[in-house]
Amino acid sequence: MSSDAPVLKLYNTLTRVREEFRPLDPAHVRMYVCGPTVYDYAHIGNARPLIVFDVLFRLLRHLYGAEHVTYVRNITDVDDKINARAAERGISIRELTEGTNAVFQADVAALGCLPPSVQPRATEHIAEMIAIVERLIASGHAYAADGHVLFDVPSMADYGRLSRRPLDEMIAGARVDVAPYKRGDMDFVLWKPSKDSEPGWESPWGRGRPGWHLECSAMSWKHLGETFDIHGGGIDLVFPHHENEIAQTRCAFGHEAMANYWMHNGFLQVEGEKMSKSLGNFVTIHELLHTENFGGRKWPGEALRLAMLRTHYRQPIDFTVKALEEAEASLRRWSAQAGEASAEPGVSGDVLNALADDLNTPLALATLHELDGAALSGALKLLGVDLRAYVRWVEAQTREAVDVAKVSALIESRLAARAAKNWAESDRIRDELAAMGVALKDNKDGTTTWEVKR
Ligand code: AMP
Ligand code: ZN
Repeated sequence: MSSDAPVLKLYNTLTRVREEFRPLDPAHVRMYVCGPTVYDYAHIGNARPLIVFDVLFRLLRHLYGAEHVTYVRNITDVDDKINARAAERGISIRELTEGTNAVFQADVAALGCLPPSVQPRATEHIAEMIAIVERLIASGHAYAADGHVLFDVPSMADYGRLSRRPLDEMIAGARVDVAPYKRGDMDFVLWKPSKDSEPGWESPWGRGRPGWHLECSAMSWKHLGETFDIHGGGIDLVFPHHENEIAQTRCAFGHEAMANYWMHNGFLQVEGEKMSKSLGNFVTIHELLHTENFGGRKWPGEALRLAMLRTHYRQPIDFTVKALEEAEASLRRWSAQAGEASAEPGVSGDVLNALADDLNTPLALATLHELDGAALSGALKLLGVDLRAYVRWVEAQTREAVDVAKVSALIESRLAARAAKNWAESDRIRDELAAMGVALKDNKDGTTTWEVKR
């Protein structure tokens, strides 16, 4: 890390304070973020952690060097919601998870997110999951009963440190299903038996499948080690998901910490309520980008990203069409301004300082109006707002709006006019096309090609 770099401070849910970030190994900064369960398209609330932690990934790469940062975001491809959805649609589980993942990857790319260093799949880490369960049983933190293996919550003296909830609230929040094989109400499933019709793997406890929390403990262990630097996700994951990941990993490996810094983004809301699949008040990223279902038009991914970054990641966002319109107006203005810049983009100290202060993206954006073209491009690059991608999107939209058959017919007529040396008619057609936003190029070989001008 260079000496003039700002001190990075991050709010840590574990301690409830903003702390100076000190990686375990500055030559290998490690971050894990819980990824999607690929049973359905991601909604724009799910886009928030993707964008927030992408900004952090970019900042860490800037501060420590790109080759010194590992970012792991998993793909949960075994889950009961997946089984149910595949059955409902009459397709195989693999077809469902592959198809959903392909759309997910296209969505996050359109939002300007870099691919994480590793995107592990749960189904490829079953051996690690079984190994963790065996360690937990051996150390007295888990027990097998009735084909299930459960984590014995009272065996961990400081269970609940992350969420700091009173025990009775945790019991209620755990949505405990009373089951005869459970010793305690809070005990949670590590492994459960599978029916023949359900996906399952052979294990010392019979054919079965993992519980959701176990998957993240296994994948973070495999790709980042027993203890790592940053663990992130939305605020709803604090309990029970992250609390249980911590219990599994710490008790399996005997360390004080699973990750040293726990970061959580606030909710994206619609009329004061969390956007969620279960409430039905959601818009998918795919719909926003490719249909006219939100505000009656398609939106560029850059506008969604920018609208999101206008709010600090820990604050709730009330999402509106107006926010997207304002973001797009900024993109339009900046594209004109940055287009004039020729210098190599650098990053201004103000922008870097704002981001280093617990990812203060609204403050970073507020400093942009003072910057010239090159500094503006540099700052936007660090924020992952790609003006060139936005300009390409605008051009593609214009092209889509052009009636290709009509253009071809006009070009044919113009070639005929030229063959008849009717120059006036040829020019008239060229003007008609120009008015449609189509520019012609007459090639040496006598053919004419065209492109759409903005
Ligand atoms: P899920 O598919 O529910 O596991 O969510 C995937 C990620 O999106 C998790 O990090 C959630 O915390 C996050 N998330 C879900 N809904 C919202 C929301 N409305 N606003 C912000 N983050 C959310
Ligand atoms: Zn997780």
